[in-house]
Amino acid sequence: MTSVHVEGVSVPLDHYIDGRRVGSQRRFEVRSPIDWDGWELGRVAAGGAAEVDLAVASARRAFPAWAALGPAGRLEVLDRLANAIDAAVDDLAKVECADNGSLYEAMHLRVLPRAANNIRFFAHYAVERLDEPPRTLPGGERNRVRYDPCGVVAVSTPWNAPFMLATWRVGPALAAGNTVVLKPPEWAPLTCSLLGDLAEQAGVPAGVLNIVHGTGAGAGAALTGHPDVDRVAFTGSPATARTVYGDAAAQLTPVSFELGGKSPFVVFDDADLDAAVATAAYQYDNSGQVCLAGTRLLVQRSILDEFVERFAARVSEITVGDPREPATTYGPLIHPVALSRVTGHVERALAAGARLAFGGHSLGGLYYAPTLFTEILSGAEILEHEVFGPVLTLQAFDDEEQAIRLANATDYGLAATIYTGSEHRAERVSEAVVAGTVWVNCFYVRDLETPFGGARDSGIGREGGRHSFDFYCDVKTVCERTSSFTAS
Ligand code: NAD
Repeated sequence: MTSVHVEGVSVPLDHYIDGRRVGSQRRFEVRSPIDWDGWELGRVAAGGAAEVDLAVASARRAFPAWAALGPAGRLEVLDRLANAIDAAVDDLAKVECADNGSLYEAMHLRVLPRAANNIRFFAHYAVERLDEPPRTLPGGERNRVRYDPCGVVAVSTPWNAPFMLATWRVGPALAAGNTVVLKPPEWAPLTCSLLGDLAEQAGVPAGVLNIVHGTGAGAGAALTGHPDVDRVAFTGSPATARTVYGDAAAQLTPVSFELGGKSPFVVFDDADLDAAVATAAYQYDNSGQVCLAGTRLLVQRSILDEFVERFAARVSEITVGDPREPATTYGPLIHPVALSRVTGHVERALAAGARLAFGGHSLGGLYYAPTLFTEILSGAEILEHEVFGPVLTLQAFDDEEQAIRLANATDYGLAATIYTGSEHRAERVSEAVVAGTVWVNCFYVRDLETPFGGARDSGIGREGGRHSFDFYCDVKTVCERTSSFTAS
């Protein structure tokens, strides 16, 4: 087995298929964004159609026994997996930080414990919450709903929170009784690789969880278009999703897409301005590489000057640097390609006449300064396209109607954040904005039971609680005349 030590943690660099590590002649290089030129992390196996075929066949073979375990049997195994993740949080945080440049502390305290909870929550839900009470028809027939597993689930996730985002899909898919083939992101594949070790340690049977590394165009496309896959769970950009959708459509495979965003962050003049400013500055978190980030600040004109002054002061306290250091606010962009995307957006915004309030430049390596554009012409690319970097825009509005119009003026619909002191206004605006999640006077908090997903180009479908099982199961209605039963 090929492995490498990252921050003292042994990380496998091979695929994980049928409970075994599978190597490859072809490999791709993974570097740390913390020090792109100086820190090669390892050379990871590059899979393609052959490895995906092996993994899907292994998942298919493992499916009947895993499904037959039933929710309670699976809970025992998945609880062990969640505990194994909890026990490995420190190692995972170190590796994730090196691999994708996320803050060690955020990984350690919030993101990776949430990953364990993704596994635990859905395993418990399947046992404790999924059954619905039967209904009786006027003729006496009993109607029951069964949530039966559907088979093999393909999971493809991005690099901005690779381990957590993988468990968010793998957790409910396995809890529902399916088997999984996971394609980790090639820009940050290492913690997903460790998931294979943790699954083995927890006694997840061989073939129930398979991991095939590789590029999106290679292993990714082979997996999401595979004829023997029953569900495709994809997290990524709308552009890639269009290709994945086409490939899945050829097989009529149902998809669940969680995609990009360009979410509005709306501040009304009756808001708690301290709270609004603090949360607005938090939108630079993870170097702006957060799908849910409220990157379009919309501020009521009557408080605009005060907001801008306080916001600039708050942002000046941001420390960009090594994500392993506790004093750092955010670390590097993930990859030189990401840096050139951000740079391109900034250059085009300037060329289109937007005013640069601050930032707009690299800080060396893959580190980029917090950036704000104001006075932007409507229709400008910077207002409509996701940058996925530390770049925000600011627009003023006069009244609620204009705020709503501006909030909805993109093709996305992932999230919206509203700061207001008025409950009625919060309700009106929540109704009017096109978004899968609306935060009012708060940000980022959400119960795992509630639906998560995006409207318009931000996604297809909803997951969370029962919504996840609606996707990962063949939901079946059984209508039976029980009076005809003569034996149990
Ligand atoms: P991307 O679409 O380019 O890549 C995402 C992943 O898809 C990568 O791991 C890649 O290997 C894989 N991929 C590429 N082609 C594939 C194919 N044909 N079949 C299967 N997999 C394939 O996205 P990106 O730009 O690297 O990542 C950031 C995007 O992800 C942003 O748009 C961000 O908003 C979005 N995102 C959304 C959520 C959410 O929950 N809605 C969460 C995180 C990130």
